[in-house]
Amino acid sequence: MKVPDIIIAVDGYSSTGKSTFAKLIAKEFDFLYLDSGALYRGVTLFARERKLISADNVIDPALEGALASLDLHFGKEGTFMGERCIEKDIRTLEVSSQVSPIAAVPYVRAFVDAKLREFGEKGRIVMDGRDIGTTVFPDAQVKVFMTASEQVRAQRRYDEMVAKGETPAFEDVLANLRERDYIDSHRETSPLRRAADAFELDNSDMSLTEEIAWIRGLIQGKFGIL
Ligand code: C5P
Repeated sequence: MKVPDIIIAVDGYSSTGKSTFAKLIAKEFDFLYLDSGALYRGVTLFARERKLISADNVIDPALEGALASLDLHFGKEGTFMGERCIEKDIRTLEVSSQVSPIAAVPYVRAFVDAKLREFGEKGRIVMDGRDIGTTVFPDAQVKVFMTASEQVRAQRRYDEMVAKGETPAFEDVLANLRERDYIDSHRETSPLRRAADAFELDNSDMSLTEEIAWIRGLIQGKFGIL
């Protein structure tokens, strides 16, 4: 199937399987996959290490100026801060529990948006996040909004962490998910919401094969290709 050089935006709540789905799309259509959440996580790691965020999420205004020296980008092994691969460090529960307050700060969003738009310039990308279809690429030709039941989502995130050798309590994972969804959908700047022209995909009871068949059908219908 020959897919045109478009941008595919995949948004939705935490742990709905956005990145798994977006990576599969990239493989299937030979697109570049970009994980916008990784950049918010990278800023959070940076703020934590520079002690610019307190344990109770008070953010030091010095973070704004400090961002000028922060080089976040994607490499072969994932997300990088300068020369350092931070892929593992940005996925901990500590970073997860502070990322939503960081992502609610307007200058942080402007910093990340600028990078995302630069990466997306050439098209033929699939990007996942919370506001890709509404704010980062409002003109994306294909927009998907993913949902799944809360229990299914918490279980997925829990399994993912256990597979990585972590030992979280299920209740903590569920609480983190609820808190992030609440902050993400109630913040003032670019809150998480479904774009009017996004197609909703509830994958609570879907296999990955079914998800790919779904997006194939959607693209075929939209562009009249086989
Ligand atoms: O996608 P992921 O769960 O890794 O994203 C981590 C956090 O980054 C989200 O909970 C949200 O607070 C923030 N985020 C965002 N806008 C995006 C992507 C992520 O606010 N486009």
